[in-house]
Amino acid sequence: MVYFGDLKPKKGKIHINKDRCKGCAFCVEYCPEDVLELSEEFNAKGYHPPFVKHEDKCLYCQLCETICPEYAIFVTLKEEEEREKDESRP
Ligand code: SF4
Ligand code: SF4
Repeated sequence: MVYFGDLKPKKGKIHINKDRCKGCAFCVEYCPEDVLELSEEFNAKGYHPPFVKHEDKCLYCQLCETICPEYAIFVTLKEEEEREKDESRP
């Protein structure tokens, strides 16, 4: 049996396609954990894309991914990636 105390919070890994971004900052403003921030750098379109400020705080809620009008950001589940890496080891 699994008890609530045994459940671990999910952790996300954020992927940003900088050149798709239009610098609207929706992902930055609406992230509940303040994980993202707009960078000073310019992308190919002349906008400031976000960067990951605190990845360890990401809860894998996927709100940033849902809200981005340019499909420039998505999140994968960290545990799944780590498990896949472990399984691919000989
Ligand atoms: S998945 Fe949620 S917590 Fe993680 S960066 Fe996106 S909005 Fe923030
Ligand atoms: S929501 Fe999308 S387009 Fe807007 S700043 Fe974030 S990544 Fe860029």
